[in-house]
This record gives sequence, structure tokens and C-alpha cells, in this order.
Amino acid sequence: MSTTAASLKALHHLYLRLHDVNQKLERGPKRIKLKEEFALQQEENLKSIQDQVLQLKKQVQQKNLDLHSNEAKILDLKGKLNTASSNKEFDIIKGQIQADEMANSVLEDEILELMDKIDVAEADVQSWVSKKDTAHQSAKKSAQDFEDARDSLDEEIKECEAAIADAEHIIPENVKVQFQRLVRSHGAGALSIVDGKYCSSCNVLISPQLRVELNSGRLVFCKSCGRLLYLEESLE
Ligand SMILES: [Zn+2]
Repeated sequence: MSTTAASLKALHHLYLRLHDVNQKLERGPKRIKLKEEFALQQEENLKSIQDQVLQLKKQVQQKNLDLHSNEAKILDLKGKLNTASSNKEFDIIKGQIQADEMANSVLEDEILELMDKIDVAEADVQSWVSKKDTAHQSAKKSAQDFEDARDSLDEEIKECEAAIADAEHIIPENVKVQFQRLVRSHGAGALSIVDGKYCSSCNVLISPQLRVELNSGRLVFCKSCGRLLYLEESLE
């Protein structure tokens, strides 16, 4: 059919392309920001595990100190054992030695347990370091990719806008304002293809009268949603 349908279809596609490019421009920085936030989150996780390791190591240190001071005490008590002046004193010192040895055995078990926990936590640290690095690299790459693409996206917008200005010569002066208002409200949705017998934008049946006007190549707005209609080329 008329060149009108073909021209409107071309115009619609230009608007859709413009919309795509604008979305890429909008989404780029949002995606980068999300990735940066994710990387910071990984860093927080890493710090918290590193803190855990530090705390565990402090506990080991303290228990080691306790262990050594108990050992010194036991040595001292063993010396006193030889110089005990009575059986009673001997038994008391022996009891103290046993209590300290028991305490040290518990301390040794606790230290071993803490060392195991440190091993696990340190492996965790390694894994979070690599998660954090990967996340930062990914954010950096997104930023670089966007930076690299931005010029060509800007260029594409200019191209689309120029092509749209050119294609819009098909819109007569008397409906230009109406059409521009549609574009402002709906962007690429200002135009709607007639899908079979229906407006693809609002799914309302196109009246026979409207169909006749469309077939004759006139510019027709949907009676229901107000979009500028055009026919599928296969129907022409
Ligand atoms: Zn409609």
C-alpha cells in the first residue's frame, strides 16, 4: 500500500531504536553503581572474616600465655614438693599440681580447637579476597565498557534524531502538535501498528471506517488510545 505505512513503520523503528540507545545510556551507570556496591559488600564480608581471624589469634595468644604461666607454676610447685615439711603440705601441693595440669590439658585442647577454626577462617579469607577482587574487576570493566561505548551511543542518538526529523516530514503540520504530544508522553509508543484488526497498543478493534482511511494512506489516530496507527505491510 501507500508509502505512508512504510514511512510510519520506518519512523516507529527509529523511535524504538532511539529508545534502546537511551536505555543503554541510562542503564550503564546504574549497572556500574550496582556492581560497585556489590564489590564493597564483598569487601565488608572480607573484613569481617579478617576480624574473626584476628580475634581467634588473640584468644590463642592469651591461652598460650596462660599455658606457660601454669607450666612455670607447676615447675615451681614440683620444687616445693621436695621441701614439703609434712605429709599434709605434700598432699596439698600435689593437689595443686594436678589441678594445674588438668587446667593445662583443657587449655591445650582449646588451643588446638582454635587453631582449627583459624585454618578454616583463613581459607575463607582467601576465598573472599578473590571474590572481592573479581567484583572490583567486574565493576571496573563495566565502567570501562560503558566509557568506550558512550561516544558511539551519543553518536547513534544524534543519527536517530536526525533520521527522525527527516522521517517526520510525513506528519502534516495540522497534526504535528498532536503527534509531538504523543511522543512526549509515550516515546516510541506514540506509533502503533495495526495487528490484524486491532490496535497493537490498546487491543481495540479498528472500525471499518478507520480501516478505509488507513488503506487510503491517511494519517489516522486510534480512537481508543490516541496512538498514530499504521498498517502491517503484508496487509497492503
Ligand atoms: Zn489504540
